[in-house]
Amino acid sequence: MAWQTIAKSERDWAVTPNLQNYEDTRRTFSWESALRELDGLPEGKGLNIAHEAVARHADGPLRNHLAFRWLGKNGEVEDFTYGRLHTLTNRFANVLQNLGVGKGDRVYVLAGRIPELYIAALGTLKHRAVFCPLFSAFGPEPIRARLTIGQGKVLVTTQMLYERKVKTIRASVASLEHVLLIGDDHRPTNVPDTIDYRTLMERASDAYAIQPTDPEDVALLHFTSGTTGTPKGAAHVHGAVVAHHITGKLALDFHKDDIFWCTADPGWVTGTSYGIIAPLTNGIASIIDEGDFDAERWYGILQSQKVTVWYSAPTAIRMMMKTGPEIVRKYDLRSLRFLSSVGEPLNPEAVVWSKEVFGLPFHDNWWQTETGGIMIANFAATEIRPGSMGRPLPGIEAAIVRQNGSGAVEEIRDADVQGELALRPGWPSMFRAYWGEPERYKKCFAGGFYLTGDLAKRDRDGYFWFVGRKDDVIKTSGHLIGPFEVESILMEHKSVAESGVIGKPDPVALEIVKAFVVLRKGFEPTEELRRELLAFARTKLGAAVAPKEIEFVASVPRTRSGKIMRRLLKARELGLPEGDISTLEAN
Ligand code: AMP
Repeated sequence: MAWQTIAKSERDWAVTPNLQNYEDTRRTFSWESALRELDGLPEGKGLNIAHEAVARHADGPLRNHLAFRWLGKNGEVEDFTYGRLHTLTNRFANVLQNLGVGKGDRVYVLAGRIPELYIAALGTLKHRAVFCPLFSAFGPEPIRARLTIGQGKVLVTTQMLYERKVKTIRASVASLEHVLLIGDDHRPTNVPDTIDYRTLMERASDAYAIQPTDPEDVALLHFTSGTTGTPKGAAHVHGAVVAHHITGKLALDFHKDDIFWCTADPGWVTGTSYGIIAPLTNGIASIIDEGDFDAERWYGILQSQKVTVWYSAPTAIRMMMKTGPEIVRKYDLRSLRFLSSVGEPLNPEAVVWSKEVFGLPFHDNWWQTETGGIMIANFAATEIRPGSMGRPLPGIEAAIVRQNGSGAVEEIRDADVQGELALRPGWPSMFRAYWGEPERYKKCFAGGFYLTGDLAKRDRDGYFWFVGRKDDVIKTSGHLIGPFEVESILMEHKSVAESGVIGKPDPVALEIVKAFVVLRKGFEPTEELRRELLAFARTKLGAAVAPKEIEFVASVPRTRSGKIMRRLLKARELGLPEGDISTLEAN
């Protein structure tokens, strides 16, 4: 395999990287030593994410250090020191306590990137309840499905999101006892069957002592999608904080005076592991931007906030590339020293582009909801091979595997051979369950490996190269969407007999959701009906999940056992060879 490399320059090493020698650090690394970087709860009462992230700093020299600077979409700015964050999250933990919420109960938050989301997340963790974020661009159906799977007891949301997305499905989620509403524009809320968040916060005490927390206590529930069935709730434990912390240090190269900006939304795992937890455990300052992507807004933030470490995603990087390099030159971005990207394949051109325009390359890294933290990365100290995801973190053993003739999983040791990317279980942030679905969880492990569902290759120097997904899940603008969730909603429309949903390649979003629809007898494939279906899906699923394109077809290909052959739909869409269609059902 031939590759171009990007060597590092003086600018890349404005500060000495935490990980200087990859091989040495791998050799000497142990999870026990990583754990020793954290404090643990006083008096040996265990390990709690929120203690490591907030309480221990608030009670120490970082009390007045900036934890978060929130930038509102309309220009507001609000600072949260570690001390202030501690008080507010104590209050939220007390709010839960006063409501009778107990250890292990699921607390969902559906909100944009507003301070209350971060306070609720950390307060929930202090209280040892389980924090479950919901992406604010989900529609009522994805919200209902996720609340139902996790049996949510509490939902914190804004009045606007409640009225638009939750009200209609509330009655169908029997477990939901309390809905806490954040009033728009700081106004108190007065909506039947809900409680005003701010009133509760004002009445709650500032003092809260975190109770003993076992590192194996569940802390986070992150939903992700598979090819079939309902979304999966990946459960992570408090002990995951060891991985969040150390990967922040080794893969994102956090140093004590850094100003960090993770552009991901906490509705997805990156926005929680690295948008909330890792920078706080490392005691650094983070920027939270409520606004949506806008290239000039982003460059303005990098400049005005003097961001030093920036963690973003390929779709955003491609959008920046589209706006051109001239705009970047209007900004003074000399404070930047380390750029990183995750979530989708990062095109080699994007790495070269960033080196040209920022003077710094983006460092691609790989992980997924189930792994809880970064597993494979390009590091600050080492050369980059654009197009490669990098090498496994210290403490992580990654392999390429395949099923042999007898169905057993075996490792492929030869370089440059494609197989499934697999990891040896045992790192602290590995998911411990798919909520309520032990069989589905078990299926992810074989031959002593956790099987990631991704196809990849490893080159002779140990760099991993992403090839594609093994299954039919769709990656659109960095978000994983399950085709089944979309197909099921389309089927609810009176005109739809069948549907098959695929990811259609897109130069910016990587893929867009495209649906093929077979109409029931009596319905005509008109432009009007197509528009009606697009709107129907958008209302039910929300902008993040709904199809962007719908095509009417006479039939959807299925295997003889009745499974939709999405691969065939995709091959036909792309004009590619149809591959093995021996299992195709005769129509
Ligand atoms: P999620 O669980 O939503 O975070 O999505 C995880 C999936 O995103 C992985 O299994 C990959 O398919 C994809 N992914 C994440 N990071 C990368 C990367 N650096 N390169 C290629 N694909 C990636």
